[in-house]
Amino acid sequence: METYDALLAAIAPTTGPSRTILDPATGTAVGEAPVHTVDDLERAIAAATAAQPAWAAAGHDARSAALLKAADAVERSAEELARLLSREQGKPLNGPNARFEVGACAAWLRVAATTPLEPETVVDDGETRAELHYRPIGVVGAIGPWNWPMMITVWQLAPALRMGNAVVIKPSEFTPLSVLALVEILNQELPGGLLTVVSGGRDVGEALAGHSGVGKIMFTGSTATGKAIIKSSAGTVKRLTLELGGNDAGIVLPDADPAAIAEGLFWGAFINTGQTCAALKRLYVHTDIYDAVCDALTAVAAAMPMGVGLDENNVLGPLQNRQQFDIVARLVDAARESGARVLLGGNPDAGQPGNFYPTTLVADIDNDNPLVAEEQFGPALPIIRYTTVEEAVAMANALDVGLGASVWSADPAAARSVAARLEAGTVWINKHGAVDPRIPFGGAKQSGYGLEFGTEGLKALGVPQVING
Ligand code: NAD
Repeated sequence: METYDALLAAIAPTTGPSRTILDPATGTAVGEAPVHTVDDLERAIAAATAAQPAWAAAGHDARSAALLKAADAVERSAEELARLLSREQGKPLNGPNARFEVGACAAWLRVAATTPLEPETVVDDGETRAELHYRPIGVVGAIGPWNWPMMITVWQLAPALRMGNAVVIKPSEFTPLSVLALVEILNQELPGGLLTVVSGGRDVGEALAGHSGVGKIMFTGSTATGKAIIKSSAGTVKRLTLELGGNDAGIVLPDADPAAIAEGLFWGAFINTGQTCAALKRLYVHTDIYDAVCDALTAVAAAMPMGVGLDENNVLGPLQNRQQFDIVARLVDAARESGARVLLGGNPDAGQPGNFYPTTLVADIDNDNPLVAEEQFGPALPIIRYTTVEEAVAMANALDVGLGASVWSADPAAARSVAARLEAGTVWINKHGAVDPRIPFGGAKQSGYGLEFGTEGLKALGVPQVING
């Protein structure tokens, strides 16, 4: 698209009901989103069902070529996409935020397009020859959240398309414009009907999860909604990839250098202003260096500018919606009332427009405090003191979620041995939340099941078929 206005005009609804989407930083209108219904969903699934066989028959090379062109199209419109994402979601243009997210969309499309997936010969002993192939599923439903709306949509649709499927997307009600705009750009390079956005509410999500014409649901969102999707998909025995909530622990070992790790800890926790599934949400620090880590982290955090996303200076933004703001405020207030020590932040400016919650660090807090035990999903990090590694590991593993975790140490071997004891889908060492399109990503415990990214991610969007002859 040549301009931001042209992109907004291209996705504006021309018929049917619509809804005004407000900028979470200013409360001003961003644009109009269609309010789609279950009838619209039926039409999208019918179109996807019609378009899918030819796409499957085109083969991997043709599909990969189209996805590479789609990645180029995203890059051509990167600035317009980033501005819209920034206004709708709230995240700043700069820092690991809106421009970074649009860049990730192109990167994930390219890796999904170019990751090899050959049939595997499982047995070939002269008598039996068995090969494992991955056939297209058919129509895949993609249901996503509001925190990284464009990037997570690409995580879902890129491997699905590469594997020969059609995709029907149900974006979050909070961030439909970002997803509509992204798909408008992708569809410049894809056959009609193959990829459709149905911008509806929970009823549309539920109908998608229960639909007999849909073979798989890719879902990213809360654990509660994941459980609802398991139920509504049961009647059709749908395949599911569930990327659900997390409450990631980070453990700082006593040999770590507080000054050297402070910035990594900060971005591990505060990327996207804390609204990230695999962000560092509970920090466990050895008592010997507890005060030094608190001081170093406070110095880094205090220097990071928060404000309106389109201001090039800012690297932190508002909470995307008022519900999330209220969750963060309630958890920090309860922590303060329990006697925990607020090192930074904690007092939102009631007179300021928008959903801004200040960068907040809370020390001397018990492990069973709700700010530790619940997913805050915002810019408020609890820092818990420990004395033995056994105690830290037990506290980190105590919850029923396990998306990511991290260990921070000057000794990589020591860090790896602690990492092996943590119940999480990914354990990072001296970093947190660094996802990579080549490396499998998924949750342990109630953070979900199924892997995304890399070869494993492609396999998850195919039906395994053994040819035995
Ligand atoms: P949410 O579960 O409220 O909503 C996600 C999507 O599900 C939305 O599109 C919503 O309309 C839809 N939905 C709601 N009810 C439904 C139903 N009954 N059937 C089908 N669809 C339904 O999640 P959210 O608040 O948008 O996202 C925040 C949560 O997502 C956090 O818990 C976060 O940790 C998690 N998350 C996880 C990952 C990951 O990769 N594991 C990534 C990002 C966010």
